[in-house]
Amino acid sequence: MSKQTIILLIVLALVIIVALTAAISEKPLGSMMQKRKYPPSSKDSTMKTIAEYLKDAYHTGMPKVVKTETEWKKLLSPETYAIAREAGTERAFCGAFYDHKKEGIYICVCCELPLFASNAKFDSGTGWPSFFQPVMKDHVEEKTDNSFGMRRVEINCARCDAHLGHVFEDGPRPTGLRYCLNSESLKFIPGEVPAKF
Ligand SMILES: [Zn+2]
Repeated sequence: MSKQTIILLIVLALVIIVALTAAISEKPLGSMMQKRKYPPSSKDSTMKTIAEYLKDAYHTGMPKVVKTETEWKKLLSPETYAIAREAGTERAFCGAFYDHKKEGIYICVCCELPLFASNAKFDSGTGWPSFFQPVMKDHVEEKTDNSFGMRRVEINCARCDAHLGHVFEDGPRPTGLRYCLNSESLKFIPGEVPAKF
């Protein structure tokens, strides 16, 4: 038997072993090799856990999400668009989350970046959901806002620039900050919040 024939036989044997393994586990070879679908399909995203949202945010390195006005309008309701993309403010005591006390995280309504968690939420009495800190400082960007004759600090999603609300320096301990949010700019993901991010 020539050397080439022996090599050919070994390769053939390996192919048969791999094919048999795939047949026994009743999975196509493709799915055995593909550990995880990325980006997640819409079906996966409804089942994503808090840990997965956090993991995705860190592993993507947070490239900016950029869409045109028309694209955002297609994705968002008119109310959400007016607040998240046009820096609007919802009426106090009217949003979905000002009195919301469930455990979980709040993600950006536009790009799903994790922004705030229930363990930093407090009742500010203002009628807007309030937090003393974001899940990660670099997930929220700040910029000076001089509209309405006031000097305020606007907060935006660091990934897609969605308008979130404002941050004030009259919050509780440990930060002394009050991140005042629009419920419309947030989506809630229920579940256990990790002690550390
Ligand atoms: Zn965003």
